[in-house]
Amino acid sequence: SIQLQNIKKAYDETEVIRGIDVTIEAGEFFALVGPSGCGKSTMLRMIAGLESITSGTLRIDGVAANELKPSERQLSMVFQNYALYPHMTVEKNITFGLHTKGLTKLEQRERCLEAAETLGLTDYLKRKPRELSGGQRQRVALARAIVTESPICLMDEPLSNLDAKLRAKMRSEIRQLQRKLKLTMIYVTHDQVEAMTMADRMMLLNDGQVQQVGQPLDLYNKPANTFVASFIGSPP
Ligand code: ATP
Ligand code: MG
Repeated sequence: SIQLQNIKKAYDETEVIRGIDVTIEAGEFFALVGPSGCGKSTMLRMIAGLESITSGTLRIDGVAANELKPSERQLSMVFQNYALYPHMTVEKNITFGLHTKGLTKLEQRERCLEAAETLGLTDYLKRKPRELSGGQRQRVALARAIVTESPICLMDEPLSNLDAKLRAKMRSEIRQLQRKLKLTMIYVTHDQVEAMTMADRMMLLNDGQVQQVGQPLDLYNKPANTFVASFIGSPP
């Protein structure tokens, strides 16, 4: 599980995360939603260890995260802009993060082929990212996360650059992948439809504060306040 207790983050004097308490269970698909600037990426980056926590306690599987380096957190991250290396082939992009794991070249290649198979990238391994469509690049970013075989996956707006049709397709692919690999998923999106259709539970943030946590239908049917109701589009 990933446990946050009164987590706060300040940049200089400005508090952008203002006391978050939540526990995300192993194997859960947890969506983190809210308007631009509410603190979603900051939260994800703190969990990943890419950003320091100003106060509060983060525990990953019971271990206080300040004792864990990013590489010890057993998680993978998919960044919003995919962050692929333009000069590397798809295969190199997928295996790049594995060099720290002490795997042989052969083991790296096997994992890459398996991930490529899962994501329908087998025919594209020799290409460079610029020779791929947006959806294919997205899959490379996903493949790069799953080859690490990390039990926790953090995704920051992974579908934001795709057209509506491809988004819908990728939503169900990501969900299937999460189920198949039994990943603990924290999925950031500003799109409430995406959260509603994908998540076991979701958390709505506004201005660094939790507005509501629960199953999507709970937020829809029983919004805790008018912000939740209007963000989710609950019937009046
Ligand atoms: P978006 O949906 O636009 O990606 P977000 O919910 O991910 O937004 P964050 O990127 O977490 O929002 O930013 C939360 C707040 O923290 C914003 O007000 C932002 O301006 C501020 N912020 C983020 N990074 C820094 C930084 N390095 N220094 C100062 N302020 C920052
Ligand atoms: Mg963000």
